[in-house]
Amino acid sequence: MPAQTKLFPCLTDNYGVLLHDPQSGATAAIDAPEAPPIERALAEAGWRLTDILVTHHHGDHTAGIPALKQKHKCRVVAPRNEAQRIADVDETVGEGDTVRVGSLVGRVIDTPGHTAGHISYFFPADKLAFVGDTLFSIGCGRIIEGNAEMMWDSLLKLRNLPDDTRFYCGHEYTAANIRFAKTIEPDNKALAARAQEVETLRAAHQPTIPATIGAEKAENPFLRADNAGVAKSVGLSGAPAWKVFAEIRERKNRF
Ligand SMILES: [Zn+2]
Repeated sequence: MPAQTKLFPCLTDNYGVLLHDPQSGATAAIDAPEAPPIERALAEAGWRLTDILVTHHHGDHTAGIPALKQKHKCRVVAPRNEAQRIADVDETVGEGDTVRVGSLVGRVIDTPGHTAGHISYFFPADKLAFVGDTLFSIGCGRIIEGNAEMMWDSLLKLRNLPDDTRFYCGHEYTAANIRFAKTIEPDNKALAARAQEVETLRAAHQPTIPATIGAEKAENPFLRADNAGVAKSVGLSGAPAWKVFAEIRERKNRF
């Protein structure tokens, strides 16, 4: 049976998301920005929390863990390389490890850069990816603990997922990301079409995610640093892709 998901806002601009296995009844929260909206989402869906899958140690992804753990006795799975910075961890995972949520089988992908130990979770049967603060729709996370080369490699791993993979990220930043992306690729038609779509969604207070990897490949400048037109646009024709990526990230930091 296909996995079910439920997306809901948390804090100011974070997203919480639940992943549910209808066969076993297992439900995972992907990160835990704060407990109350997760409790509400569980109650609305009639699901029982069995697992929390953590992408990285930042407080806006982990602050809800202790309260949820205490109430639901759920398993907490966290990135091996930063588990010591996360409360109540039961199991640590890294690149290539398998994580099960009931009968759903996920694979862990190391995606460092935003934090040094950041991981993403990919569920191939349902083509669902949970990417935390590594990839955003039309954007990417800030490089806080890593470097540009590391972040570019992480983004390439996510870009290599099947085009019809739907990915969930940690924040609703899409509209602002599009304003920036247009400065890099003003003539990108796919991006212009997406801008329209996002404007409509946001006007109706709807989320812009999940987005697909295939669409991001055409629209997201951070995944297009090895595109000749993008390199030229930032004055770095012929430079290694990670340097083009670094320049785009720098420009976004100043935008
Ligand atoms: Zn973060």
